Amino acid sequence: MCRFIGLAAKLILLACCCPLISTMAYAEEPPPLVYKQAGTLPIILSAPHGGKLEVTGVPARAGEEQAKGAGKFVLTRDTGTEELAHALSVAIEKRWGKGKKPYVVISRAHRKYLDPNRPAQMAYEDPDAKPVYDDYHNALAGYCKVVQKQFRQGLLLDLHGQGTAANTVYRGTQNGKTVTLLRERYGETAHVGGTSLLGLLKTRGWTVFPDPFGGPEHTGYLGGYIVQTYGGNRGLGIDAVQLEFGQEYRTAESREKTVTILADALADYSTRYLDSPPARKSADEAAR
Ligand SMILES: [Zn+2]
Repeated sequence: MCRFIGLAAKLILLACCCPLISTMAYAEEPPPLVYKQAGTLPIILSAPHGGKLEVTGVPARAGEEQAKGAGKFVLTRDTGTEELAHALSVAIEKRWGKGKKPYVVISRAHRKYLDPNRPAQMAYEDPDAKPVYDDYHNALAGYCKVVQKQFRQGLLLDLHGQGTAANTVYRGTQNGKTVTLLRERYGETAHVGGTSLLGLLKTRGWTVFPDPFGGPEHTGYLGGYIVQTYGGNRGLGIDAVQLEFGQEYRTAESREKTVTILADALADYSTRYLDSPPARKSADEAAR
């Protein structure tokens, strides 16, 4: 009898501790440093600079390569862009209909450990940061291939934050090079006209740059490694646009409005240039 009570007590103790043990095991697992979402639309979202997480065992970059003149060296985050990418994905699904999602790749690691918007030799200094960098680019490359194969066209939006003008969103396409396919298929107006992406955003109240849309892009926001690698000039069959958001577009208070407008502009863009119209109309359109 005593032995039975002892066994029962052990079982009760084990049952009580199990959730604690599993929680402890979970807490010790490192969080995934690249968020990946496979989608169903020819739209790919990338956010390389919004992450906050530490890369365990990796010191902050010192910038020695960049100090030798290899390029611009930045350690600060593009605040709010990780959240913006998630919110935009939700807004797109809301706009298109249930199950219609963009592909998404977000770096959750802080930029001081690695910069996915740089070529590998300038992106990280500690080899332990390489798997995170590779994970980011393998995901983006894989999604671009899937979209190209399935849709024969696609749009990659690389989301960033800039501190030059709080009320402005800058477009970076290397002055049109990373949207070569769009321009070839639909003509220059698809890139610089009133129904271009910038045109569709300006119509909805955004301050955009360049404006006129065919003017030279800001030299600081021309479009970095990601849009240059996956954009229309590199044979992956995808057009890529870097969007640099001013602070007013990416605060916790403004985010919802930003993504609702951007999803609406993308719906218009997709109907015109991606053969991928949304299944539903926006509340505004439905009320007209
Ligand atoms: Zn950035």
